[in-house]
Amino acid sequence: MKLDLNKFEAFPADAAVRADSIDLNLGEAGVSKIEAIAVQLSIQHSGEEYFCQGSVVAVVTVDCVRCLQPIRMEVSEDTDFIVCPEGLHDHGPEAPVDDEEYLYYTGNVPVIELDPIVREAVILGIGMKPVCIDDPEGCRERQARLGRPTGIVTDEEHIDPRWEGLKKIKDSHFGHK
Ligand SMILES: [Zn+2]
Repeated sequence: MKLDLNKFEAFPADAAVRADSIDLNLGEAGVSKIEAIAVQLSIQHSGEEYFCQGSVVAVVTVDCVRCLQPIRMEVSEDTDFIVCPEGLHDHGPEAPVDDEEYLYYTGNVPVIELDPIVREAVILGIGMKPVCIDDPEGCRERQARLGRPTGIVTDEEHIDPRWEGLKKIKDSHFGHK
């Protein structure tokens, strides 16, 4: 996915970059598909730098870490980065200063590859809940079928702390105790 900053005549500008699917080689993280990617950005231009802020939304198919069943989930993450020409800063792409994220373009054409931005959002997004959150019973059964030791693990131990946190957020959202 590419962002062509040349196509904007004035800044600040809003950009929307979409793709039906993308392959980011995240197989090791259990990700088999990334679809319906939408990157929305608000872009400011100052000097040779473009300040981009916005969001990344995508539908990700990822294996449940417990029962290995593929789960489809929507991830939605904020993103924030700066685009500038290669060589603008002394530190170069390998040594970013502070906590800003820089994307560099070469030559005079400000076109950048958004894949690293999408990749980061997907990793952050699935980190929260790579388990069968909507189907704990089925998840347990599938774990048993895989020969995983569900029988000797108590319910408490079964609850991923991240999952529990999400459940609380979900419950409070709907007004339950
Ligand atoms: Zn599962």
